Amino acid sequence: MSFKELFDTYQWEDVEKSITAKTARDVEIALAKDRCDLEDFKALISPAALPYLEQMAQKSHQNTLRRFGKTMQLYVPLYLSNKCHNSCVYCGFSVKNKIHRRVLTDSEIMQEVEVIKGMGFEHLLLVTGESPREVGVDYLKNAIRLLRPHFAQITCEVQPMDQADYETLAAEGMHGVYVYQETFNKDRYPEYHPAGKKADFYYRLETPERLGHAGVHKVGLGALIGLEEWRTELFFLAMHLNYLEKKFWQTKYSISFPRMRPFTGGFQPNVIMSDRELVQAICAFRLFDNEVELSISTRESAAFRDNLVKLGVTAMSAGSKTNPGGYAVSPETLEQFNINDDRTPVEICEMLRSKGYEAVWKDWDISMIALES
Ligand code: SF4
Repeated sequence: MSFKELFDTYQWEDVEKSITAKTARDVEIALAKDRCDLEDFKALISPAALPYLEQMAQKSHQNTLRRFGKTMQLYVPLYLSNKCHNSCVYCGFSVKNKIHRRVLTDSEIMQEVEVIKGMGFEHLLLVTGESPREVGVDYLKNAIRLLRPHFAQITCEVQPMDQADYETLAAEGMHGVYVYQETFNKDRYPEYHPAGKKADFYYRLETPERLGHAGVHKVGLGALIGLEEWRTELFFLAMHLNYLEKKFWQTKYSISFPRMRPFTGGFQPNVIMSDRELVQAICAFRLFDNEVELSISTRESAAFRDNLVKLGVTAMSAGSKTNPGGYAVSPETLEQFNINDDRTPVEICEMLRSKGYEAVWKDWDISMIALES
């Protein structure tokens, strides 16, 4: 069964109701288990679980320590372009926003790289708007070729592509792809994505499966927190992860929790997730899945990120710029969204050390492909 077929057997409203109906007893049963299933996950993200947050946090910490040790992977985004043909109502790069558009040239990419390498990064996240003509597979292929000698890990957060395109980029050295569904609420999805290719809900939903078929090593999943009721979003996210892990068990997975940030355009979130609720969500994912990487970006404040270190998170961005050319070429161009934690990578490392954690700059090398085959 494809994920689309499975997904279509669920109704958003039914899921929402069943999460709200979970009781303290359901939470206690989930907390007592070594392996939680999707019903347990519902209990852990339900309102009934909030009084159990301390227990969840302790268990999440222990499980994370057992699997990952006291480590935190660090990565940095490199925005290659702010051109986009879509009109997502929550994004500063929407085609409707009159902003200066640019696509970094080869020499501009290398200028950015010099600054990023100076910060110590080995894991680079390439980000573009969705503009297949200007920043499609050929542009990315060239960018990865340029960047590959300088970084151990190259991940892309770009427009969803066909399987053959992913195969091409993986062969060039692309290690992973992050593709967030934004919202799993199929009925409301068109309101947020009124035009462009991103309006195709199912093409986006089926992207992780195409990545699995293409043999891409790591797939990052997420929902944008702020559009629709977050508990129901996270249930579908967990269901997607569960499906993918069974079908593509050799792939690594990562979950992100992007809470909406201010941007040019001024869309106001429909849903607010409190810090406490975000902690609940992170712990719930850890109790549901001991292997998955949990990532938290510079969207979150410094003080809050410091607290998350011991709660299950295993990857953090640092020193991020969310505009093309932001590190060296043209720091003044418009950001996709405002960042919240503007500490340097050195400061982040010091913070991690003060908590007894070690920053990991690299946990992958392209030569491992040869070892695997
Ligand atoms: S979220 Fe992505 S696809 Fe949507 S407007 Fe922004 S850059 Fe374009």
